[in-house]
Amino acid sequence: MNKKQHIVVIGAGLGGLSAAISLTTEGFTVDLLEKNDKVGGKLNILEKDGFTFDLGPSILTMPHIFQALFDRAGKNMADYINIQTVEPHWRNFFEDGSTLDLSSDPVIMRQELDKLGPNTAKEFEEFLAYSKKLCEITEQGYFAHGLDSFWELLKHYGPVRSLLEFDVFRSMDQGVRRFIKDPKLVDVLNYFIKYVGSSPYDAPALMNLLPYIQFGYGLWYVKGGMYGIAEGLQKLAEELGVNIRVNSEVAEIQQHGGRATAVRLRDGSVIPADIVVSNMEVIPAYKKLLNNEIEAKRLQRFEPSCSGLVLHLGVDTIYPQLAHHNFFYSDHPKEHFNAVFHDNKLSDDPTIYLVAPVKSDPTQAPPGCEIIKILPHIPHLNPEQPLTAEDYAALRERVLIKLERMGLTDLRKHIVCEEYWTPVDIEQRYYSNQGSIYGVVADRFKNLGFKIPQRSKDISNLYFVGGSVNPGGGMPMVTLSGQLVRDKILADLQG
Ligand SMILES: Cc1cc2nc3c(=O)[nH]c(=O)nc-3n(C[C@H](O)[C@H](O)[C@H](O)COP(=O)(O)OP(=O)(O)OC[C@H]3O[C@@H](n4cnc5c(N)ncnc54)[C@H](O)[C@@H]3O)c2cc1C
Repeated sequence: MNKKQHIVVIGAGLGGLSAAISLTTEGFTVDLLEKNDKVGGKLNILEKDGFTFDLGPSILTMPHIFQALFDRAGKNMADYINIQTVEPHWRNFFEDGSTLDLSSDPVIMRQELDKLGPNTAKEFEEFLAYSKKLCEITEQGYFAHGLDSFWELLKHYGPVRSLLEFDVFRSMDQGVRRFIKDPKLVDVLNYFIKYVGSSPYDAPALMNLLPYIQFGYGLWYVKGGMYGIAEGLQKLAEELGVNIRVNSEVAEIQQHGGRATAVRLRDGSVIPADIVVSNMEVIPAYKKLLNNEIEAKRLQRFEPSCSGLVLHLGVDTIYPQLAHHNFFYSDHPKEHFNAVFHDNKLSDDPTIYLVAPVKSDPTQAPPGCEIIKILPHIPHLNPEQPLTAEDYAALRERVLIKLERMGLTDLRKHIVCEEYWTPVDIEQRYYSNQGSIYGVVADRFKNLGFKIPQRSKDISNLYFVGGSVNPGGGMPMVTLSGQLVRDKILADLQG
C-alpha cells in the first residue's frame, strides 16, 4: 500500500480535522484547507464586550471518540482538552411551572422521577435498558464498521436482527410511548432528538439510543469554552504534521477519468491530490465543487436537518433558577415539530433550548453577568417559500416573551450584548446545505435514518466526512466519520 499519497481535505470542521489527524497518523501527507479564518467549523467562538460565546455546540457526549484520535497518535487527550462533567445534565421547565432535572446521580434521578408518579422511575429504568440495547447494537456494527446503507446493515446483522433489534417499525415517539406514560417525560425523551435536529414523530425508533449515550457516557463541558475541542485538535494536527491552511476556499474539485486529480482554490491556485476528502456537505459539494446538479438531485431524499435561530445574549443579571443546560417546553410539541419539519413555519410556541454556561464556568462572562444562549429549532432554508428577516425577528420576540413568562423576569431589559444568527448566516458561514445545523435529517420514510454514504458513487478517490454522511451529525458522530473514512481509504488502497 502506498502511504506516500497526498490527501487534500476540504474543510476544517470536526469531520475534516478528525480525517486529517487520522490519515496523518497513518503516514499520509495531508493538506487541510479551510475557507474561514479559523478551524472548527460550526464549533466556533466569538468574544464580545467581555462575554465569550460558544457559537455552535454546547454539549459534548461520547468523549471516547475524541480520545481515540489521541490514543492512535500516542498522545494523552487530557494534555490537549480539559473536559469536565456537568450536573444536572438538563433542567426541564414546563408551562405549569413544574421542573424536572435529568441527573447522572441515580438517587437524584429517582427523586425527580417520583415527582411524576409512583411507576415512572420503573418505566424509565425499562426505557433506559431498551435505549442501551439500541446503542450497543448500533456501536457493534454501524459505528464500528462504518456501515453506509440499509443493505450493508442487512448483510452485517442479518435480516432478523436488522428488523427486530433496531425496532424499525416504530418512530422514535412510538418507541418512547411503549415504555413511558407520563406526558412530560415523553416530551423530555422525545426532545433527545435535538442532538440530530430531526422530529421524533418522523425519526426511526433507533434514535432512542440517544438517552443512553447521554446517561451511559456522560454529558461534558470543556473548561474555558467548547472551542477548546477545536484548539486541542488543531494542536494535535499541527504536531503530527497536517498542513492547515485557513482562508483557503476550494472552488472546484478537478477530475479526470472518474478520479479526482486536484482542487482549485478561489484564488486560482491548484493543488494536485491523490485522494480528496470533503468536509463540505455532499449536496453543496456536488453542486458547487463538481458542478453536478444531477447527482445533487439524486441525493435529495437526504434532506437537510433543521436549522436554528441562535441567540447569544450577555445579560447583566444572574438567573439562579437556571442550570447549565435548560429546556423550556412547548405545550404543543406535535404542532412545534410539524411547523419545523412539514410546514416550513416558525412555531407559534417552540420548545426552547437555553444554555447558561456561566453556571459551570464563570470565566465566560464579566462578574455579575450571565450568558444566555437560546436555540429554538426552525426550518432549514427553503428557496421556494423563503422566511423573511421580519419573520425571524418576530420569533426572537416570541421566544423572549415566552422565557419571561416562564420565569426569566425582565430578560429583555437585562440584555447588554447580543449576537443573533439566522439560517442565512449559518449557510453563508459554513456552506451547510440550506442552513442545516446537523447535516441530514433522520427520517424513517425518507432515508430510514441513514445519511449519505462516505464514498462518492462516481469518483473513485473522493470521500466525504461530516454531518451529511453516515453516521451523521453532532460532534462525536462527525469526529467518528473522520476515523471511519481513514478505515475506508486504507481498505480501498489494499484493494
Ligand atoms: C447552534 C448549534 C448548536 C449545536 N449544538 C450541538 C451540541 O450541543 N452538541 C453536538 O454534539 N453538536 C451540536 N451541534 C452540531 C455540531 O456542531 C455539528 O454536527 C458539527 O460541528 C459539524 O461538523 P462537520 O465537520 O460536519 O461540519 P462543519 O462544522 O460545518 O465544518 C465544515 C467546514 O468546511 C468548511 N468549508 C465548507 N466548504 C468549503 C470549501 N469549499 N472550501 C474550504 N472550506 C470549506 C466550512 O467553513 C467549515 O469549517 C450544533 C450546531 C449548531 C450550529
